[in-house]
Amino acid sequence: MPEPTTPLIERPWEDVERMLDVDAALDHVLAAFAPLPSITAPLLEAADMVLAADIVARDNIPPFRNSAMDGYAVRATDTVSATWSTPVELHVTSHVAAGQGDVPRLGAGEAIRIMTGAPLPEGADAVVRFEETDESASTDQVGRQIVRIYRAARLLDNVREAGEDITRGTSVACRGHVLRPADLGLIASVGEPSVRVHRRPVVAVLSTGNEVIPPGHALEPGMIRDSNSFVIGSLARAWGAEVRLIGIARDTVDDLTGRLDEASDVDLIVTSGGVSLGDYDLVKDVLEAEGEIAIWQVRMKPGKPLAFGHIGPTPLLGLPGNPVAAAVSFIVFGRPAIRKMLGHRVTEPRMVDVVTADDIDNRGQRRHYVRVRLEPPEGGAILARVAGEQGAGVLSSLAAADALMIVPEEMERAQPGTRLRAILLDW
Ligand code: AMP
Ligand code: MG
Repeated sequence: MPEPTTPLIERPWEDVERMLDVDAALDHVLAAFAPLPSITAPLLEAADMVLAADIVARDNIPPFRNSAMDGYAVRATDTVSATWSTPVELHVTSHVAAGQGDVPRLGAGEAIRIMTGAPLPEGADAVVRFEETDESASTDQVGRQIVRIYRAARLLDNVREAGEDITRGTSVACRGHVLRPADLGLIASVGEPSVRVHRRPVVAVLSTGNEVIPPGHALEPGMIRDSNSFVIGSLARAWGAEVRLIGIARDTVDDLTGRLDEASDVDLIVTSGGVSLGDYDLVKDVLEAEGEIAIWQVRMKPGKPLAFGHIGPTPLLGLPGNPVAAAVSFIVFGRPAIRKMLGHRVTEPRMVDVVTADDIDNRGQRRHYVRVRLEPPEGGAILARVAGEQGAGVLSSLAAADALMIVPEEMERAQPGTRLRAILLDW
């Protein structure tokens, strides 16, 4: 485990000059994480995970020379004069199916009926597809079975060479590679039923607030339902983590401390709420007492307050309580941390170039993540349209959004037509 984070700034609350840049905050967060140890995973479970050891092919793929078509194995030289009007007749001596180990030899003037994937008989050097043959002639004058070939085969027509896909001894996939479906197929082809991958982080998700109750309970006056657990939890799961929801902590030191204790064995604790300046924003106090935690004021919108540090050995990311602030902060800081633990080399979000359709006000020198819908480009760039009301608690506009368009800190206003970048929300 890296050194715990120490507070960077004392109480820089509204002092923009002393707020922390998003990139600096992210650097501090990422410095606390490393790829997790590797495990052996069965192939299907390893999909989308990151390989921790090279895979070297112990066999050729294909393992043997075989037919790419259903047809007749021939010697190309026996077919040179064949045309649609003057077919060549060859003597059919036998047949060979896929999976057949013992394959007959082919002699001059002969053809062997062969199925796709069957080993090419010794002596044969091409396959003529059924579509270019006629089997109905059946026998010649001396009663032997024959086939008419209507096309001159070139050497190795419809033949797949041993090792043409993968050569024995070469690397199929290197460590650090993200396993996609075709990779798993290649790894299976070279005979490996399992792979070494970085294990998935276990992420504990804790909501806080006396007013917060779980869905499934009737609302009492003053109460709201917990949405953050489900946004944060499903994001973490979509990014590849195993998620443990540890409920909702009351705003008391005992409840908070107790619930955090329950999560002492995880790879990352993510809390929401309680890191602002309110009378009951206890998370920061508990965190400061229990661990080494810094409370930052990050130069971003939504999502300014952010806590980060360690409780014992366990990293903790304290998100703001407002649902969109929590989600955006988790996308900006939590996703890279989870990806780094998973062993990904790329932790940056997927971005697209867009042009804003709307006028965006951005006074306050914060990086503004605007919830936008993307419209297909009409010749030019992708058009980004504000997805609805942009309050930090307005979850419906996040639900309606395709992307988070970034208005830089120093850009006080983005007029329609301004080119910007946007983080794709590919959920
Ligand atoms: P806080 O930072 O704890 O003061 O919370 C800021 C706002 O977010 C308040 O309006 C809270 O009621 C709201 N909030 C906090 N936690 C949650 C949650 N888990 N689900 C939905 N809203 C929340
Ligand atoms: Mg609260």
